[in-house]
Amino acid sequence: MTTTVVQLAVGFPYREDPAHEYRVVKEISVRKFSMRDKIEVYGLAKKDPLTASCEFMSRVVVEPKLTRKQAEKISTSDRDIIMAQSYMFTRGPTARWAANCNNRMCGFAGEITVDLSEFEITYDTDGFYHLVGDEMHYTIQIDGVGDVVLKAITFVEQKKVSKIVKSGNELAGVYSLYAACLVKWGEDEGSGSKGTFTVDFLYDLTEDGDHTLIDQLEAKVDKADFGFPRSHIFECTSCGRESQFMIDMMSFFFQNPLMEEGA
Ligand SMILES: [Zn+2]
Repeated sequence: MTTTVVQLAVGFPYREDPAHEYRVVKEISVRKFSMRDKIEVYGLAKKDPLTASCEFMSRVVVEPKLTRKQAEKISTSDRDIIMAQSYMFTRGPTARWAANCNNRMCGFAGEITVDLSEFEITYDTDGFYHLVGDEMHYTIQIDGVGDVVLKAITFVEQKKVSKIVKSGNELAGVYSLYAACLVKWGEDEGSGSKGTFTVDFLYDLTEDGDHTLIDQLEAKVDKADFGFPRSHIFECTSCGRESQFMIDMMSFFFQNPLMEEGA
């Protein structure tokens, strides 16, 4: 079997079986995507893309061997990398991507061609994330609060907020995701332990119109976002101006059947 080695941006908690301790895996081997994978995983993605992404990773990651459950511990940053690397390994770096021109006078909406290998991936080389139990955590400092601990976004946190995201309220989705990732807020005992933060906690921070805390949180969480860039600049084929679109690797992946002729 042909495989390729892939470096991950964050790394994920992994253990062979419950008798072992969790360790962090930052380097994996992936194989190519087969016709069977395509039909079975894409079929699942139509109903449940989040579960399908874990199923996909459990298939193409060959070292270490992963069950779907184990794949649920992989951060969304690393998931994007695994998807993109697997795509490139199977089909080459060229991909078509749906994009709209931001120039209102132009209004181009269509597909552009991107070279996935040109996207600059950022890695957590300084050990910002660390293993706590079976989760990857990181600590940021917020003025007036102190240490704030968050966990990497994985299947579990995304699943928690998927209903809100599907409802179309994107901002509520973003804040719910922050709340789902929040582990500790400041030094004060009882201000919240693992898993007890709700989005109301974050909403209440701006109750008197002061957005200082939430602005700091957003800016610092953004800096912990390793992996693929979240947006891409392209030259519009219609008006020639530079435009930008947001990168959603999972949507891209499941909208681009890997084995399609000429894809
Ligand atoms: Zn344009």
